[in-house]
Amino acid sequence: MKISFHGADRGVTGSCHLVECAGTRLLVDCGLYQGGREIEQENAEPFGFDPKSIDVLLLTHGHLDHCGRIPLLVRRGFRGEIVTTSATRELARLVMLDAAHIQEEEAAHRSRRASRHGGSHPVEPLYTTLDALDSCDRFGRRAEYGASIDLATGVRATFLDAGHILGSANVLLELQEAGRSRRVLFSGDLGSAGRPILRDPSVPPAVDVVVMETTYGDRLHRPLGPSVEELHEAVADTFRRGGNVIIPTFALERAQELLFFLREGVESGHLPKSTPVFLDSPMAISATQIFERHPECYDAETGELFRAGQDPFRLPGLRFTRQAAESMAINQVSAGAIIMAGSGMCTGGRVRHHLRRHLGRSKSSIVFVGYAARGTLARKIIDGAHSVSIFGEEITVRARIHTINGFSAHADADELLAWHERARPARTFLVHGDPEAMDHFAGRLKDTRVERPELGQVFEI
Ligand SMILES: [Zn+2]
Repeated sequence: MKISFHGADRGVTGSCHLVECAGTRLLVDCGLYQGGREIEQENAEPFGFDPKSIDVLLLTHGHLDHCGRIPLLVRRGFRGEIVTTSATRELARLVMLDAAHIQEEEAAHRSRRASRHGGSHPVEPLYTTLDALDSCDRFGRRAEYGASIDLATGVRATFLDAGHILGSANVLLELQEAGRSRRVLFSGDLGSAGRPILRDPSVPPAVDVVVMETTYGDRLHRPLGPSVEELHEAVADTFRRGGNVIIPTFALERAQELLFFLREGVESGHLPKSTPVFLDSPMAISATQIFERHPECYDAETGELFRAGQDPFRLPGLRFTRQAAESMAINQVSAGAIIMAGSGMCTGGRVRHHLRRHLGRSKSSIVFVGYAARGTLARKIIDGAHSVSIFGEEITVRARIHTINGFSAHADADELLAWHERARPARTFLVHGDPEAMDHFAGRLKDTRVERPELGQVFEI
C-alpha cells in the first residue's frame, strides 16, 4: 500500500493525494492551485501520475482548491468514477463550470493582448466548459454520511460529515492487501464546531494513518457571537454615516452564512427590516439555491426553521442580481444598502466594480469576513494600503475598513488537535497549510510519527 502527494503539500491549495492498494488507484481530491500567477502556473504541470490509470476519485467537498483540477484530469484521460455526496456533486458542478468559464475568458484576454504585440498563436485555456461538462459525466455513486461503499476488492470508503461546507466530508479508507489492513482517514477540510446551518464535524474513528489539513494549525479563532455583533454594528454605523456596506464574499458557505446572520440581525431589530441586501454574484445565487435544496445537511436548529416553512437565507430586502445590467443598476443606490459580491479575495468578479465606486467614499464601509491570501487586493486593503489600483485606476482608500475574523469555516488549532487525538493515528501526514502553521501544529502532536510531505513524495503505509 502506498500514498503519494500531488498538491497542497506545504501549501494551502491544490489538494490531490493518491492511494494505491491491491491494484486499485484512488485519488482523494484534485484541486486547483490558487493565489497569484506564479502559483497558478503549477496547474498546467503534469500531475505526477497518469490520469488514465486512476480508477476512482473521492471528492471531499466542492471548494475550488479541492475540485478545480478535475476538468484537467478528465481532459488528460481520466475515465474513472467520481464518488462524493449529493450536495458536493451539485456544488462541484457549479464550481467547475465557473472555473472553466474563467479559464476561457482569461485565455481569450491573453490571446488578444499577445496579438496586439505581434503574437500569432492563441493562448489555450487550462480547460474548457466542455471539459467541465465531461467531468460531470464521471459522477457515479452518491456517498451518504456514515454508509460505507465497496470501491474494489480490499478497498472500502466511508464519508463522514466534516462540517466545513455543505456536503463536505472526511473520507475513511479501509484497505486490505496481502493479508495486511490499514485504516486511513483524510480530513478534507475540517469545519469548526458550534456554527449555524451545518452540523458539527463528526467525531473521527480510531485509525492507523491520518492525512489532515493544517490551514489554521497555528491560530485560534475568535468566538462567533462577538463577530456577528461586530458585523451588525459595522452595518448600522455605515448606514448612520450615509454610505453602503460592501462585503467581498466567497460564493460557497460564506455568502449563505452572512445571509443567515443578516436575517437574524433584521429579526432581532439590529438592522432595519427594509435593508436592501444585494447578492451580486451569479455563483453565490446558484450556491444559495443549492443550499435550499439540501436541508438534509443542516443542523437541528436550521432544519427546524426550514420545516417551519422559513427559509434561513431569505431576508425581506434580499435581491438576487444575476444579470450584468441588474448589477450595474446597484450603482444608483448610494446609501443604506449591503452589497455582497465575489470574489472573496477581490482578485476578480463584480466586487471590483463596487470597490472602484466605494473605496474612495468615506461614508461607505468595506467589511472583510474571510481569508485573504498574500498578494491579493483584499490583503492589500486589509493591510492598510493608502491607495490601490483597480482596472488601471489608482484609488485612494477613504472608506472605513472592517476585518471580522470569527467567521472561518475551518477548525482552529485546538479543534484540529482534538480531532487528531480522537483519531489516534500511529502516523500523521500534514497537508493543506502554510509551512509555519504546519510546523507549529506538528510541534503539538504526540505519540504519532509526523510527516510533512513534499510534492511528488511517495510513502509505504
Ligand atoms: Zn474547503
